[in-house]
Amino acid sequence: MADGNKDYYDVLGVSKDASADEIKKAYRKLSKKYHPDINKEPGAEQKFKDVNEAFEVLSDDQKRAQYDQFGSADPNAGFGGGGFSQGDFGGFGGNGGGFEDIFSSFFGGGQRQQSASQPRQGEDLQYSMELKFEEAIFGKKTTIKYSREAICKTCDGSGAKPGTSPVTCSKCHGTGTIQVTQNTPLGRMVRQQVCDVCNGTGKEIKEKCPTCGGTGHTAQQHEVKVTVPAGVEDGQQMRLQGQGEAGFNRGPYGDLYIVFRVKPSELYQRDGSEIYLDQSISFVQATMGDEIEVPTVHGDVKLKVPAGTQTGTNFRLKGKGAPHLRGNGNGDEHVKVTVTVPKKLNQKQKDALKEFAKASGEKPSGNGKNNFFDKFMN
Ligand SMILES: [Zn+2]
Ligand SMILES: [Zn+2]
Repeated sequence: MADGNKDYYDVLGVSKDASADEIKKAYRKLSKKYHPDINKEPGAEQKFKDVNEAFEVLSDDQKRAQYDQFGSADPNAGFGGGGFSQGDFGGFGGNGGGFEDIFSSFFGGGQRQQSASQPRQGEDLQYSMELKFEEAIFGKKTTIKYSREAICKTCDGSGAKPGTSPVTCSKCHGTGTIQVTQNTPLGRMVRQQVCDVCNGTGKEIKEKCPTCGGTGHTAQQHEVKVTVPAGVEDGQQMRLQGQGEAGFNRGPYGDLYIVFRVKPSELYQRDGSEIYLDQSISFVQATMGDEIEVPTVHGDVKLKVPAGTQTGTNFRLKGKGAPHLRGNGNGDEHVKVTVTVPKKLNQKQKDALKEFAKASGEKPSGNGKNNFFDKFMN
């Protein structure tokens, strides 16, 4: 933000009459390109900040109109302390997250209008945890490991070399913002921007901490014990307070959100605490009745199939579903039986069925060559 005369349209590489969609597209492309997690080239971080700053203005109709007219989006407040510091995007490491999360949090409007010198909570992190079908039903205890920004132990987060302390910034005198004069078609205008010496913190570190280089944060491989509650479902998330990234200016740690990804089962379908199973039975079992063994997540269970059961009939096994996430007891397992028709018959079976047809008084119907009865009766 050193250059007070930046053209936001140039920054995003769009024309002055670009649509909101074109602006959004350009922003997405450029912010990915210059994201500090990806692009380590010198100057990339500044470009990333510029792109965010430009987008913040051009994506807001009111600010854009103001900018078009005056060359500044908000002559009163300027950009001091607003916008997005790198810290706002630094998260989502570990196994989870990725750009979709960064953007959803961004477009969700997480804009903070706080002074950079005030205590600020660290970023929330997201961790995606894959669970087997049964693990989601019964829960489990596990330990997860991920990298996060932690408070530097050498300087306890101050960023200053042990034995020294940060001093009030000599350029902005502790306010974190400086005033820049800008030439516009309407004359010279003054706007505020983040102090480039202290990056808006209002504090200058003369002798930087050798461990963290003055940031007050260090990367940490962090371990957390997690108890996955019994009955979680795919897409549900759990918040672990204070397990996110370190805060700024002695602000608290952010939170960790664990998003559960439940693998489907080859056997069962699940809807909340209800479990569904398709079970095939023979037409003899269906007509004469039988007691069959059906699988449930709680082990095999005997099921009485009454004589004359039609294909598609549903049976309910009470309490054999998944646990209710909030409350007691389990849901049910629903067994849908399908009566299978044999594809191939041996001679003995054919003879038996002919007898069966005769005993039922059935007559061949239809004239087609491939008629069911043609095959048996000829
Ligand atoms: Zn340090
Ligand atoms: Zn300063």
